[in-house]
Amino acid sequence: LVRVRGLTKSFGAHPALRGIDLDVNEGEVTVLLGPSGSGKSTLLRTVNHIEKPDAGFVEVDGDIIGYRHVGGRLRERPSREIAAQRARIGMVFQQFNLFGHQTVAQNIIEGPVAAGESRRDALRHASELLERVGLAGREGSYPRQLSGGQQQRVAIARALAQRPSLMLFDEPTSALDPELVGEVLSVIRDLAADGMTMLIVTHELGFAREVADTVVFLEDGRIVESGPPDDVLLSPVNERTRSFVSAVL
Ligand code: ATP
Ligand code: MG
Repeated sequence: LVRVRGLTKSFGAHPALRGIDLDVNEGEVTVLLGPSGSGKSTLLRTVNHIEKPDAGFVEVDGDIIGYRHVGGRLRERPSREIAAQRARIGMVFQQFNLFGHQTVAQNIIEGPVAAGESRRDALRHASELLERVGLAGREGSYPRQLSGGQQQRVAIARALAQRPSLMLFDEPTSALDPELVGEVLSVIRDLAADGMTMLIVTHELGFAREVADTVVFLEDGRIVESGPPDDVLLSPVNERTRSFVSAVL
């Protein structure tokens, strides 16, 4: 489903991604690990085309994100097409990024309604999604009336409302009090069980071991190790992976 090839991105003179090749098969979960500054967020943001790559490409569902082939060359797509591509990629950040002056339901239906879905259908779908994330009946609440864990679950429902084929999570539990982490991980675990394709940055290694089909370790903008979770987490071959894992565990 996801094919990343030669993905390169610099900020000024500083390379953040130095040629990333990565595949995520449909229905599989890939967890990205790596030290601070290794490029995890930049990789997710480039997959979602919040950042444009300097070289290389990201293909989701057979379409190159942000570009298309015209006469053997890649040309940038019109912004309307990019917006449509991005709508099919759900992204959940560390900070919940809900609109504080809007109710939970308004937050969830905004994207689908803007994309042409009727308010009625969008609201019905929003209620189903709230039930799915364990927040049935909270349509009328405002974000400030919810705990951090509840807000993050609304953010997940909002991303799901666009019926994404891929979900990206960037440290979805890092901003939460420890007692709220479990409820958010449990929603992500359910999504994995339902076959959602996901790319997840997390430092929750126990969770990574449980849900990941593949664990990828990034270091200084490169993939230095990747494989099944038990291989990468329990018997890493790479020196940097080994010291990272032993420091976190
Ligand atoms: P963390 O674990 O701290 O979130 P990360 O692995 O997500 O780190 P990135 O945020 O992707 O790392 O950053 C990779 C590198 O790119 C870092 O050196 C960072 O300083 C740099 N960088 C990221 N975004 C920008 C930006 N918008 N402008 C300039 N430099 C950036
Ligand atoms: Mg980051």
